[in-house]
Amino acid sequence: MKKFLTFSCMAILIASLSSCRKKTEPETPFNWVVDRFDDIKVLKYQVPGFDTLILNEKLLIYYLNQAALCGRDIFFDQNGKYNLRIRRTLETIYLHYTGDRQTEEFRQFEKYLKKVWFANGIHHHYSNDKFQPEFSESYFDQLIAGTPEEFFPKDFPSVSEVVATIKPVMFDPTLYPKRANQADGVDMIATSANHYYDGVTQAEVEAYYKQRTDPNDPRPISYGLNSQLTKRNGRIVERTWKIGGMYSAAIEKIVYWLEKAAEVATQPQQKKTIEALIDYYRTGDLHTFDEYSILWVQDTTSKVDFINGFIETYGDPLGYRASWEAMVNFKDEEATRRTETISAEAQWFEDHSPIDSIYRKKQVKGVSAKVITTAMLGGDCFPATPIGINLPNADWIRKDYGSKSVTIQNITHAYNEAAKGNGFDEEFILRKEDRELKKKFGSLGDDLHTDLHECLGHGSGQLAPGVQSDALKNYGSTLEEARADLFALYYLGDPKLVELGLVPSFDVAKAEYATYILNGLMTQLTRIQPGKDVEEAHMRNRKLIAEWCYEKGNGQVIEKVVKNGKTYFVVNDYQQLRSLFGDLLREIQRIKSEGDYEAGRALVETYGVKVDPTLHAEVLERYAKLNLEPYSGFVNPIYKPVMENGQIIDVMLEYTDDYAGQMLEYSKEYSFLPSVN
Ligand code: ZN
Repeated sequence: MKKFLTFSCMAILIASLSSCRKKTEPETPFNWVVDRFDDIKVLKYQVPGFDTLILNEKLLIYYLNQAALCGRDIFFDQNGKYNLRIRRTLETIYLHYTGDRQTEEFRQFEKYLKKVWFANGIHHHYSNDKFQPEFSESYFDQLIAGTPEEFFPKDFPSVSEVVATIKPVMFDPTLYPKRANQADGVDMIATSANHYYDGVTQAEVEAYYKQRTDPNDPRPISYGLNSQLTKRNGRIVERTWKIGGMYSAAIEKIVYWLEKAAEVATQPQQKKTIEALIDYYRTGDLHTFDEYSILWVQDTTSKVDFINGFIETYGDPLGYRASWEAMVNFKDEEATRRTETISAEAQWFEDHSPIDSIYRKKQVKGVSAKVITTAMLGGDCFPATPIGINLPNADWIRKDYGSKSVTIQNITHAYNEAAKGNGFDEEFILRKEDRELKKKFGSLGDDLHTDLHECLGHGSGQLAPGVQSDALKNYGSTLEEARADLFALYYLGDPKLVELGLVPSFDVAKAEYATYILNGLMTQLTRIQPGKDVEEAHMRNRKLIAEWCYEKGNGQVIEKVVKNGKTYFVVNDYQQLRSLFGDLLREIQRIKSEGDYEAGRALVETYGVKVDPTLHAEVLERYAKLNLEPYSGFVNPIYKPVMENGQIIDVMLEYTDDYAGQMLEYSKEYSFLPSVN
């Protein structure tokens, strides 16, 4: 599971950064923002501490980085069957169009391409909605006509044929309007544009898995995780993503670099882990994936770590198939002490959780937690990036072997640096004392929220016997995120945190509560277009929690204040709010443990989906005046091997300010799949 940036993080200054980070920052001012277009701001992140790693660690990072970049096309194709054809057509025009580039229409074209790169396809990375080109179809024809045919990909049957195919996909708003459709009561598979399924209906998919899954299997494999489900001659077939299967050309390259990484792995456990991953990519066997996941979760001592594979299922409305993602990182030793303190107390937190005692874990196992510095992002982690990750996702592995949690500090740091002084707090936070509390403790509260969410929240609690982990279906992700958030919020205000020396006082919780509620009720609406519902799981979860607490507190605990025509939400009773968090955590844990789909559905649909149009319009208007982009993502650093006598003797780290340049380079160097898959 991933934790994404809550809106609040953007405006928070990191006050508590470790001193070691400051030493490694360059002397000259660092340019954090490298590009802006539409609703997006592209940043760059620093990799402090890379220079202090030993050669083998640098080599390991270098090889894993290469593996992290080789699956980019897979993710594009998973997001839609026409995405690679569209991207390659747009890139060919961008590089070779001979006509006038100084026109408004060309700028609109360039903006569209930048959005396609950012979203890894033609649907918005966060809202799932297809974005409409601002240029016309006839201008597109002009661009095609002005680009010499020889430059288009060699595997296009003909340019005119491909253009005829992709034009309606790009321009017709009624075609493929959503990448993943989670709307209640529709065929979520047939109406989703993603390429996880092709030509099958939701009913067929559900019947297919009903036949194959055994509700009494205590250790079920992750059915459907690494395949496309489609039809051949009227029969449903799985096309497995492995060497020799679907996406083979890209997976072969990933394996090539993983083999090199295995050779320089610094610990035997890590070498075994990488070899198991290679074996899984070769066979596509999901039992091997479980073996790999167990090895991976047990490797807690390696300095360098990585994620590489088909991991998260947010993109599949039914939660079977996983997007390809990659991240390479190394441990931030100093900041990790904070999360180790929390993890060491995992059992205490579990035993005191406000949930029904029968759903508490008797023994919380192996909750490992660390703060990391990311070195490379790929696939579903790029350019939009999570700030915390907790894996593996298989419930039984989490129960028997624990899970590994990370907080990605250099990403959070970059967000905060880029957001300094943007006027957001002055606009949306009514009381001066709240703004000051946020300035003082917001960053610590936010870091701790992430730590608690990832280290303990997801790993806490247990299912009742016989309940399937997918029982909550399309509401599963939202409710799971709500459960982890509530766990974090509840404990952020616990005196235990003061006792452990993690916070000076309850003020840290106050800062976080105020920001969380404001975000859930109001400011996150800046990410939603007028008239649309809230769709994304993390956003639904925040809305659900904030709206539920507002209602249960009778407008007293959380109060709506209108001043000078502007709406604000203020928290009047923080202790009472904390106890409401506890109540809702108890109920959501019950829903998960019992697989109570109807109750889960009612909670999400009542509190997490529908937007008040008047408030929405007001928030958008106030936000627009600040001239800020609601979404951010990143370019990666560049790693250059230093060669001597055919050997790599060092790896140099550089930063780039060229978003389009990096995207074009990745498309040139790391594009291995055919245009049609
Ligand atoms: Zn999460």
